[in-house]
Amino acid sequence: MKSPLLASIAVFALAVPLFAADEPPKPSDAPKPVEKPHPIGYEDTPIIPGTKWHVHDGERPQPTVVTPGEPSTQEKAGSAPSDATVLFDGKDLEKWKMDKDGSDAVWKVEDGHIEVVPKTGYMVTRDEFGPDFQLHVEFATPNPPSGDSQGRGNSGVFLFGRYEIQVLDSFENPTYADGGATAIYGYMPPQVNASLQPGKWQTYDIICEGPRFEDGKLVKPLVVTVLHNGVVTQNHTALIGETPHKQVGTYHPHPEKGPIKLQDHGNPMRFRNIWIRELHMPTPEDIGDGPAIGK
Ligand code: MG
Repeated sequence: MKSPLLASIAVFALAVPLFAADEPPKPSDAPKPVEKPHPIGYEDTPIIPGTKWHVHDGERPQPTVVTPGEPSTQEKAGSAPSDATVLFDGKDLEKWKMDKDGSDAVWKVEDGHIEVVPKTGYMVTRDEFGPDFQLHVEFATPNPPSGDSQGRGNSGVFLFGRYEIQVLDSFENPTYADGGATAIYGYMPPQVNASLQPGKWQTYDIICEGPRFEDGKLVKPLVVTVLHNGVVTQNHTALIGETPHKQVGTYHPHPEKGPIKLQDHGNPMRFRNIWIRELHMPTPEDIGDGPAIGK
């Protein structure tokens, strides 16, 4: 244990610098030191190959600020991100029309959701989107369920009005694999079955890179990634073509923008919280030489 004398010396030694630093306060009009702006990047780092940007380049354009939406719960629909086009927010079908004749949409709106009125026909957006977009759709299949296989809780989300991401009650409802929930209908089964029970609200998040045609020829297929209830079920899947019933799909050239279409398959499906965001693919200038593979 230290002696009381040593302890006192130690305290004094610590206190001296404090007294020495106790200078009179500076007058308020004294010039303030100029603060140098804090640099947010570097100019002395290597150039990312094929681009004009240094690694961590402070001059590289900033991403646009987007306010995310509120996530949905079973009780309450969420909201869209600030830069989305809202296709249905619980109120009306202004953004939709009937596919067969362009007349006003006649599916039912009640309690903040849409309900398919069977046998009235498909519903399609008035506006067109593309070529690349993120689409969010929520649906609930009828509860109690009726029918089986393709007859139970069937609808569909058609990209560009022609490529069907299957909507189905796939909860304990066997059907052909390329016709289950989030299948590319007639082509690619989902990687897993992430379906919830009938009556539960479910989400599809669809990231779509639209097809490109030049001189009437396909030069880039439609590529789609789908998350079903937050689970990836299609991962960058390139479509073989359109999604007909009992046929191998092929492509038919179409414009780079197209509508979103929802299917009436005779089941009173419900939808809510539908929104879409246009996506901007990286430009060749952004990508530069890209990754060096095999070097
Ligand atoms: Mg369908």
